[in-house]
Amino acid sequence: MKKAARREVMSDLLVKTITAGDIALDDSTIQRFEESLRGEMIKQDDGRYEEARKVYNAMHDRRPALIVQAAGPADVISVVRFAREHDLLLAVRGGGHGIAGYATCEDGLVLDLRRMKGIRVDPEQRTVRAEGGCTWGDLNHSTYALGLATTGGIISTTGIAGLTLGGGMGYLARRCGLSCDNLISADVVTADSSFVTCDADQNKDLFWAIRGGGGNFGVVTSFEYRLHQVADIFGGPTFFPIEADVFRGYRDLMAEAPEALGALFGLTLGPPLPFLPERWHGQPVAVVLTCWSGPTDDDKKILERLNHLGPVLGQHVTRMPYPAVNTLLDDLLPAGLYHYWKGHFAKGLPDGAIDVHIEYGSRIPCPQTATLIFPIDGACHRVRPDETAFAYRDARFSTAVGPSWPDPEDSERNIEWGRNYSEALRPYCEDGGYVNFMSADDQGRVFANYRQNYDRLVQIKMKYDSTNLFQINQNIKVDS
Ligand SMILES: Cc1cc2nc3c(=O)[nH]c(=O)nc-3n(C[C@H](O)[C@H](O)[C@H](O)COP(=O)(O)OP(=O)(O)OC[C@H]3O[C@@H](n4cnc5c(N)ncnc54)[C@H](O)[C@@H]3O)c2cc1C
Repeated sequence: MKKAARREVMSDLLVKTITAGDIALDDSTIQRFEESLRGEMIKQDDGRYEEARKVYNAMHDRRPALIVQAAGPADVISVVRFAREHDLLLAVRGGGHGIAGYATCEDGLVLDLRRMKGIRVDPEQRTVRAEGGCTWGDLNHSTYALGLATTGGIISTTGIAGLTLGGGMGYLARRCGLSCDNLISADVVTADSSFVTCDADQNKDLFWAIRGGGGNFGVVTSFEYRLHQVADIFGGPTFFPIEADVFRGYRDLMAEAPEALGALFGLTLGPPLPFLPERWHGQPVAVVLTCWSGPTDDDKKILERLNHLGPVLGQHVTRMPYPAVNTLLDDLLPAGLYHYWKGHFAKGLPDGAIDVHIEYGSRIPCPQTATLIFPIDGACHRVRPDETAFAYRDARFSTAVGPSWPDPEDSERNIEWGRNYSEALRPYCEDGGYVNFMSADDQGRVFANYRQNYDRLVQIKMKYDSTNLFQINQNIKVDS
C-alpha cells in the first residue's frame, strides 16, 4: 500500500531490479517502451491486470509492476533490451504452469509469451515449429491432423516452453525420447537482446544448454521439433488397490515392455468416474495411465498385461486420438489450485521405495493430489549423459510427489505430507530430480539436478547471461 501511494505522488513506476533494489521509471521512459511494442503492456491500474498477473499455481500470488504480453519475437527483443538497460527483475512466462512460480515475480517485469501461438507443421520433413506461448494442447492438435506427434506433457494446458527447456517427459518418452531430445533448433533472444538460432551446427553450446537447462540462457521464441508417426493410440487409466504386488507388477512390466508402451504409475484418491465403482470414490487407489502407440494388433496383449498387474477396480482403456490421452487429467487439475511438488530420479523401484509409496499413498490428503511415476528409459537412455544439459540418462523413473489442493486452509497439511514423503523416498533415489517437478524451495538441489553437466552450464551461463538477467528459474549461478 505504501509503495502504491509513493508511486502516485512521484508518478514514477517503481520496479524491482535484479540486485533486489528498486528503480523509479518515469512516465516518458515507460511510454517509449510501450511504443516499441505491438503486444499489450499492462500496469497495476489496468482493468486487465488481475487476470493478467495470475499463474497456474495459486501459491504464487504475486503483483508484478509491469506485464508485457508479447505479440512476437520483436516484442521479446524490446522487453529483454529494456529489462537489461534498467537491470529490471524479469520473469518469463511460457504456459505459466511452473510449479515453482517462476513465470511471475513481485514488483518486477513479466514477459508473457502466451499470445505467441504460431505453429507450422512440415509433414514431408516430419517437423513442427511452434512459438513459445503454445501449450501441448495447441501443438498436439496441429500435428495430429497429419498423423504425427512428439513427446510432450500429459496435461494439455502445460506450456511447451518450460516443459521442453527442463527436459520434457510424457507418454512417448520411452519410444521417442524426451521433448528436448526431439528439439532440432530454437530461436532465442539472449540477455544482450540478440536474436539467435541454435541447433546442431550453430550456437551449439546454447543448443546444448537449453535442452534441460531451463530458462537460464535466454527467451526461446520458437521451438522446432522432430515428429513421429503417432495418430490414434490405445490408452487410458486402469485403477488398482494400493498393493505391493501391483507396484512390482508394474516394475516388471516396464522392464520388458516394448518402448511404444508409455505407462505412468500413479497414486491418488479415486475420482468420481462412471467406470470406477462408487465405493472407491475418494479412497486411496493406484492407477496405471497407459498410452500404447505400437501396432493395433497388440492392443489385446497390452490389455491382458495390464489386467494381470492386480485386481482391476475400474478401467477405461480404449483407442483414442493421441491428443485425447493428454487431456484425460485436465479437468482434475484446472488452473488456480495450490501445488507443492517434489521431484526425484530413480534407477529402479526397489521394495523399500514401494513401502514408502504405500505408506504415503494410503493417506493422500486431497482428491487433486497425485504421485506420478514417469518411465524414462528406452530412447531417453540412448542419449549420452553429456549430450544435453539434462543429466540423468541412467534414471529409469522420474517421480513427481504432487500435493495439489483447492483450499489455502489445507496448505500446511499438504505441504507437510509432500515434504515428509519426499524425504522418506530419498534413500531410494538419486540426489537430483527433474527441475520441472521442483518447488521454489528447491534451489539447493540445482547442482545435484545437473551433476556432471553443472560446470559446463556455468560456463555457458557466463557467456550468454553473465549478469544473471534470467534468474527466476532453477538458477545456474555464475559466481558459484
Ligand atoms: C498439472 C501439471 C502437469 C505437468 N505434467 C508434466 C508432464 O507430463 N511432463 C513434464 O515433463 N512436466 C510436466 N509438468 C511440469 C512442467 O514441465 C513444468 O511445470 C513446466 O515448467 C511448465 O512449462 P510452462 O511453460 O507452462 O511454465 P512457465 O511457468 O511459464 O515456465 C516455467 C519456467 O520456464 C521458463 N520459461 C517459460 N517459457 C520460456 C521461454 N519461452 N524461454 C525461456 N524460458 C522460459 C520460465 O521462466 C520458468 O522458469 C507438469 C506441471 C503441471 C502443473
